[in-house]
Amino acid sequence: MKVRLAKTAGFCMGVRRALEMVLGEANKDRGAIYTYGPLIHNQQVMKLLETKKVSVFKPGDTVENGTLVIRAHGIPPQERKLLKATGLKLIDATCPRVARVQALIRYHTGKGYEAVIVGDKDHAEVIGLKGQGTGKAHVVGSVNDVSELPEAEKVIVVAQTTQETQHFEEVVGAVKRRFPEALIFDTICGATRNRQNEVRALAPHVDAIVVVGGYHSGNTRRLAQVAESTGLPVFHVETDGELDKERLSSLEVVGVTAGASTPNWMIRKVVQEIESIRSRKERRLGRWIRRVSKIFFQSNLVVALGAFCLCHAGSLLSGRSPDLLHPALAFFSVYAMHVMNRLLDKGASTYNDPESAYFYTRYRMPLVFSGVFSMGASLFVAGTLGLKSFLAMAGLLFAGSIYSLPIVPLSRRHLWRYSKIKDIPGSKTLSQALAWGAVIALIPLLEPSATALAPSFVAFFFVFSVVYVRSALFDIFQVQGDLIVGAETLPITLGEKRTLFLLRGIILAGGLALAGSALVGFTASLSYLLLLCYITLFLSLLAYEKRWLHPGTSLEALVESNLFLAGLLGLLWQWLK
Ligand code: SF4
Repeated sequence: MKVRLAKTAGFCMGVRRALEMVLGEANKDRGAIYTYGPLIHNQQVMKLLETKKVSVFKPGDTVENGTLVIRAHGIPPQERKLLKATGLKLIDATCPRVARVQALIRYHTGKGYEAVIVGDKDHAEVIGLKGQGTGKAHVVGSVNDVSELPEAEKVIVVAQTTQETQHFEEVVGAVKRRFPEALIFDTICGATRNRQNEVRALAPHVDAIVVVGGYHSGNTRRLAQVAESTGLPVFHVETDGELDKERLSSLEVVGVTAGASTPNWMIRKVVQEIESIRSRKERRLGRWIRRVSKIFFQSNLVVALGAFCLCHAGSLLSGRSPDLLHPALAFFSVYAMHVMNRLLDKGASTYNDPESAYFYTRYRMPLVFSGVFSMGASLFVAGTLGLKSFLAMAGLLFAGSIYSLPIVPLSRRHLWRYSKIKDIPGSKTLSQALAWGAVIALIPLLEPSATALAPSFVAFFFVFSVVYVRSALFDIFQVQGDLIVGAETLPITLGEKRTLFLLRGIILAGGLALAGSALVGFTASLSYLLLLCYITLFLSLLAYEKRWLHPGTSLEALVESNLFLAGLLGLLWQWLK
């Protein structure tokens, strides 16, 4: 069955930021962690937080030490003062957009204005907003409440960030009739509006809409209501297990969206479950093609074929005559390293890519066999290229194999907190890029017929930079799952903004190196063509930042396509020569 996933589906910025702050703190393992009220209206995430020893703090609870995280909704300043006095370490995860509304109220009530908050008086965010006004803030839930507002000379109006635009405008109209000079601040958050607009835009292209998210989540319920208003059948589910497969199987294309408190791994599970439903209208060939392409992606065959293509471009860039041996070496070694590491390290994939995790559990033995076979095949191919190449390849495979294994004995863990190489922050991205670069551009330098050093180093940097950006982007897409299992990937260590900045720098450096090396005559004119790969990578970064694509299958396919593009550009250059 075909699925169209809304680009805006899932966590909004504020919720994602708050969850990442809590998980980041939990992974430091520095004592008890509490969240001020439930962090998020999602049962599954709350259960998961419990497993990380994060508990919910309710007003009136007495705890003496630990860390207390203020959730995205924020709290009143009076409450903050009381909490500070308890001696607990406070971490403020108030959403910056909510904090802006709080500041607006504080500033204007300080200047003698009465603040009118359009929202739900019992909602935590509204309670926090009201507290900023120190007695000069009033909550109105509907047009009828406006008549009960006290007389005032100066009035400002703000909205609870998740209010409906139409409702806010109706209340604003009523306030304006009573207080014509009132200052209006539309503080409704774009995250809510964008999700709702996207559902309306998605409706004409699908047969039904599945809304994923907690039944107690206000924004998810509103999203389901908007979906219902389009006249399509709507399925509101919390988990993939609740999907009505029988009804869905009579459809052809299903739209999927999710509330702002739904994590990516849950959306992914639902999407993968719907995709696995046999639509009665789908052709057998279409179903078969989709199944085969999934196997290619899940088994790492796609990434190995990508290495084959990238190696072809790297060989040409190094000035070597193209052959099949070097790309075959890249194919087998990359396949072996990726499959073996994946088999040894199942943790984060359970969250990041549940279907793939299931695939690796179900086909464990054939995958072990294919991984070991590929190791043997890469050693055999390296052997045909010379003894030095064989030894270098054996060393690389050995280093790749121990990457996910504990190498620091228990008795020495107090001296060095990382027991595996993979635990060292950012090591995954760096080691992948170094390994690919070594196989494609450095090992060939050990052959008797080795080419000049300068073009080989340019080729090494090209491969290294492309693979580094690819791996780091995947780490960014998978940050939620990595945080849950405590993996210290590059974006977790540096933060997303700094990682994206670093990747832009690497793309720029790679582009300059390619163009410069061609200009001074180190490498052939192929360098100019390969600049396209950096453009595609840059576009992938933008597609993620601007949310042009949801960080799921399509964005991952765009990033992977870059490896194949390099190979195609190599072929094109040979043909044009
Ligand atoms: Fe912040 Fe908007 Fe999310 Fe509310 S909906 S937490 S204001 S990003």
